[in-house]
Amino acid sequence: MTVKLVLLITTVASLLILENKFPFFRFQNSLGSRVAANFGLGAINSILASIWTIGITQFVVLPQLEFRLVAMIPNPVIAGILSCLIIDLYMYFWHRSMHRLPLAWKFHRLHHTDRSMNVSTAYRFHPIEIISSSIPKLLLIWLLGISSDYVLIYELMFIVVVALHHSNLAIPKSIDQLLGLVIITPNLHRIHHSQIVTETNSNYGSILNWWDRIFRTNNDRPDVINIQLGLTDNIIV
Ligand SMILES: [Zn+2]
Repeated sequence: MTVKLVLLITTVASLLILENKFPFFRFQNSLGSRVAANFGLGAINSILASIWTIGITQFVVLPQLEFRLVAMIPNPVIAGILSCLIIDLYMYFWHRSMHRLPLAWKFHRLHHTDRSMNVSTAYRFHPIEIISSSIPKLLLIWLLGISSDYVLIYELMFIVVVALHHSNLAIPKSIDQLLGLVIITPNLHRIHHSQIVTETNSNYGSILNWWDRIFRTNNDRPDVINIQLGLTDNIIV
């Protein structure tokens, strides 16, 4: 079993237990069937993404570039930090484009249809979005010479932070605000899943919330408990 799979299972299992014991929202509707569907979709997406990525890296032979920014940095710590920052910045703009381009939103809206968020919502994505997001990401990694070790480090952090901020775990507000100085927290991401369009179009970050602050898409509405989740035109309840 790979380190990614072990971390994913451990994180999801821990958050499922914690969010049931300490829920933020007290949902009236049953989560049961939705959780199974979301995890099922996540499993299908991860199999498709693995086949797609292996296929691309096996059969598409890209030429070695002489000048690649990250590969030229001799210090592995600096190269690793820069790699993670670049991938996270890419994820910010990818997510933002999913909301701003009408065709992209047709696929991304599936992620926003959950009216009762929990850790399984983190895996509720259309397969087209998962596959298409990997193409510019793989090109970026190749162009800049980002090593697979740095990509793995980013992906491990991504697994934990994305599962956490989709969970229904009630974190004390002061801790959420402290974490929110650096990462996208559950409260910040709940605002992103609001039915109010201006709130849905905010807090696009995956790991760091610095990009939202820099590009002025940050929203830290204080009364998160009053947020109505989902999409108003969604008939699934
Ligand atoms: Zn979104």
